[in-house]
Amino acid sequence: MNTVAIPLARVDAQRPSRKARAQAKGRQPTLEAQAELLALLHDEPVGDPPSHTKARDRLIEHLHRINDAHHGLPEALLVALATEMRLSLAEVFEAATFYHHFELLKDGETGPRISVRVCSSLSCAMAGSGALTRAVKQQLAALADVRVVEVPCIGRCHAAPAVVVGQHCIDHATAAAITHAVESGHTSPQIPDAMAFDRYVADGGYRLLDELQSGQRSIDSVIQTLSDAGLRGLGGAGFAAGRKWGILRQQPAPRLIAVNIDEGEPGTFKDRVHLERDPHRFIEGALIAAHCIAASAIYIYLRDEYAGCRAVLQRELAALKAARPNVPPIHLRRGAGAYICGEESALIESLEGKRGWPRLRPPYVAEVGLFGRPTLQHNMETLHWVRDIAAHGAAWFTQHGRNGRQGLRSYSLSGRVNKPGMHLAPAGISVRELVDEYGGGMQAGHTLYGYFPGGASGGMLPAALDHVPLDFDTLQPHGCFIGSAAVIVFSQADSVRDLALNAMRFFEHESCGQCTPCREGTQRAVQLMQQPRWDVPLLQELSAVMADASICGLGQAAPNPLLCAIKYFPQEFA
Ligand code: SF4
Repeated sequence: MNTVAIPLARVDAQRPSRKARAQAKGRQPTLEAQAELLALLHDEPVGDPPSHTKARDRLIEHLHRINDAHHGLPEALLVALATEMRLSLAEVFEAATFYHHFELLKDGETGPRISVRVCSSLSCAMAGSGALTRAVKQQLAALADVRVVEVPCIGRCHAAPAVVVGQHCIDHATAAAITHAVESGHTSPQIPDAMAFDRYVADGGYRLLDELQSGQRSIDSVIQTLSDAGLRGLGGAGFAAGRKWGILRQQPAPRLIAVNIDEGEPGTFKDRVHLERDPHRFIEGALIAAHCIAASAIYIYLRDEYAGCRAVLQRELAALKAARPNVPPIHLRRGAGAYICGEESALIESLEGKRGWPRLRPPYVAEVGLFGRPTLQHNMETLHWVRDIAAHGAAWFTQHGRNGRQGLRSYSLSGRVNKPGMHLAPAGISVRELVDEYGGGMQAGHTLYGYFPGGASGGMLPAALDHVPLDFDTLQPHGCFIGSAAVIVFSQADSVRDLALNAMRFFEHESCGQCTPCREGTQRAVQLMQQPRWDVPLLQELSAVMADASICGLGQAAPNPLLCAIKYFPQEFA
């Protein structure tokens, strides 16, 4: 099997400009900075041989090492890093300044000892994150080395308002709990009690993979079963999984797999919950996929906010490798706080160590993906279902379903309900059924006013449309989509104008800036939506330009909440 030395073989490494850089030019690193950098980089990420230290795709991992040590990126170390990796300083700065979790520190500056990140996205805003931020800033004002910032969704919407102190998550946060964590130095992540390798194997885990590898089970039968089950990409795109595998098999080797666990869509936390419970189920799914398409390596892209899951994956991938040394290399990579990296081509760029700018397509990543190779990219949950569907048969999956739809979905339910959380429910369930049967009903004193059926980008619907099946293809006629099945419920206590503005601010913050309709459009929309009276015709015109001319789904979908607010909640604009 061709193990992946691809990053080193990339044409990037051959560029003439690299030779020029061998001669000292521009700012040179100090000996102290070089020594410190080498000490920081000695610890290899999971799946990477030591020889890959200088590979371009390791740039973001290296930036994380520096950031973890300094709570920021001192310029002197970036200069040393550029020299060590034989990159231009501009290339290093380009990546370092793109990601929200990195902050440049000028010579002599120090980063904050502790960062308190208060989620300000939809569910947390409804739960009072604005007032919480103000209270915490006031309480911690005397501590100059503690920084309090509002951040987009951190994937804990079921426990709103949610806060992270360092890497320590505080659910249902209060100012007192946050202050206590800061003062007592509780900044480490909580490690979830996930099913470990031995237990997973004892439970029949990796048996299907063994059957495939031994020839007892054919590749064609697995792909056919996935197709019969109607398994689709559960990150939001909804592309048929079996068909995707078939396309990849027709591409030239070597092929790669990229697993998307970036999960940045506000309201979405299903992948984290699955990971915290049962990480090997998706890993086996990824290995089955790797066997079926003859992939030579797997890259897992995990959002940086999931520090506890990262510790679990590091432990479990090591256990897997020890027990099964012949599995393809599995590389664990860490995002750095950029929502756009959930977009498939931006994720590929980020895995290559660059800023996460979406690519123009075609070619699609299935043809020209990671390191220029055909790449099968899947959301983690899609792979989570592979073992069970292949083992139990398509009918096991399709027997579930509601309102004419088939299958199971992991709905991230949050907002004004009694039991927010990740609920495994039949595909096609309506929001009314989801809230009543799984969410424990509406909170006391709240009645359903409306809901986001698919996170911030999936639009909003009013209570009058509480019967629409929540699934792929059912929401488009209403100007919405299911996306990652993040259902955020709001009540008469909430302002649709405020919710739509919150969503647009998020898109403004997360726009990668590559194309004008999105970069400028989100900014202008926020300005217009902040006015006491919305200029509805102008906002509609702006939305049409953004939807028609933006390069990727972020800019195309950003107007959805705004347009739905105008269409379904006209009483708020009278
Ligand atoms: Fe970047 Fe927005 Fe353009 Fe997408 S639509 S490429 S996020 S600027």
